[in-house]
Amino acid sequence: MRRQPGITRAEAARRQGLSTGSATEIVSRLRRLSLVDEVPAPSGARGRPTSVLVPHPDGPVVLAIDLRHNGWESAYALLDGEPKPLASGAVAGQDPGRVVARLASAVARARRRFGGRLRAVSVAVAATVRDSRVVQFDTFRWEDVDLAGIVTGGLPLLVGNDATLAGVAEARRGAAKATRTSLHLTVLVGVGGILVVDGAPVAGATGAAGEFGHLPFGDPSSECPSCGAKGCWDLQVDGRALARLLGDPAPPDPYRYTTEVIAAAEGDDWARAAVAHVAGALGRGIAGLVNAYDPEVVTLGGLGPQLVGTAEEAFQNSYRQGLMRFRRGSPPPIIAAAYRQDGPLRGAIELGLDLVVCEAGLSAWSAEQGPGHRTTGSAGRVDRPRTVPQELVTGSEMYEASHRARNQEHQEQRKSNGNKRAEAPR
Ligand SMILES: [Zn+2]
Repeated sequence: MRRQPGITRAEAARRQGLSTGSATEIVSRLRRLSLVDEVPAPSGARGRPTSVLVPHPDGPVVLAIDLRHNGWESAYALLDGEPKPLASGAVAGQDPGRVVARLASAVARARRRFGGRLRAVSVAVAATVRDSRVVQFDTFRWEDVDLAGIVTGGLPLLVGNDATLAGVAEARRGAAKATRTSLHLTVLVGVGGILVVDGAPVAGATGAAGEFGHLPFGDPSSECPSCGAKGCWDLQVDGRALARLLGDPAPPDPYRYTTEVIAAAEGDDWARAAVAHVAGALGRGIAGLVNAYDPEVVTLGGLGPQLVGTAEEAFQNSYRQGLMRFRRGSPPPIIAAAYRQDGPLRGAIELGLDLVVCEAGLSAWSAEQGPGHRTTGSAGRVDRPRTVPQELVTGSEMYEASHRARNQEHQEQRKSNGNKRAEAPR
């Protein structure tokens, strides 16, 4: 259901190498556990009538929150991972305590609505993250803010960087879906991203990897106001670079400034030259990352596609010139991300669902589905309190869980491919 929304029971059975009888029995067990439901397949499908597998309407729920420089939004998802918007708002002030309290009340509302069905809260933050802590959030001027207070009662909390999670969404369901090793970059204020291998972000020991904007691809004499390092790439690829090139003061909102310069580039030679310069710096840095990581594809989100589209030639020239010679014959394609706005939310949902469908997650859910233990969370009903204690899950554990889940998927895929070969006519 997650990999191929709308899959029929017949197709799922074929992929798993299951007989019709086994598939029927397994699906009915999953239905009893409120995990999977079936709806009639649209008529016109060839062959015998079958049904489409959908998430059970009373099944597990993941809450995802995207905290950005200018506000937040939340969405929930059932087992198919499709985000359904819940709430959004401005961030009133930047005081960490108030922001945490605001998000905590959003979680509390979701908990009242979904009861024990709410299995994990997964937060994407436009900031550098280590475990559940935000260690550097430039626009809020936060240093070391713990988000653990967003959840209570042992509900698992995942916290990830927005560009990292956008990369997860692209690799699993978006523009890099068909690949196993993809590099994602988001250009907003500065640039961040992640290498994703087999659907799992290569996020380092504490989840803080992928701070590509702080690679010293820039001017070694200038100190980065965000991180304190010298020569950061960040300062070459966003609105701050454009403003320097155009002789403007540092813009209060570099994102907005970039969109304005891009819009002006059509009829303004100076603006066009500035965008070309920035696009060149972007292409050069991506070449360095490709040399280092050897991805199959590079996905580009945020303002990246607009920058490239405005100065395609400058971008491509710098990209090719920065590549090692042996790569130039068939460089990995750089493509626009499939998810522009909701990539971080979708990635947060993906990693939250990994916790739900891992062995421990399914065991805990199943144990709660016995007679007298139903947790439907339907409107007007009061859910019983949770009985299975679940401790806080840290960033590194999150990535381990995600990695395990993906390995399992790949094993299944290999098995399924093996079955396909076995079935192929000679
Ligand atoms: Zn820096």
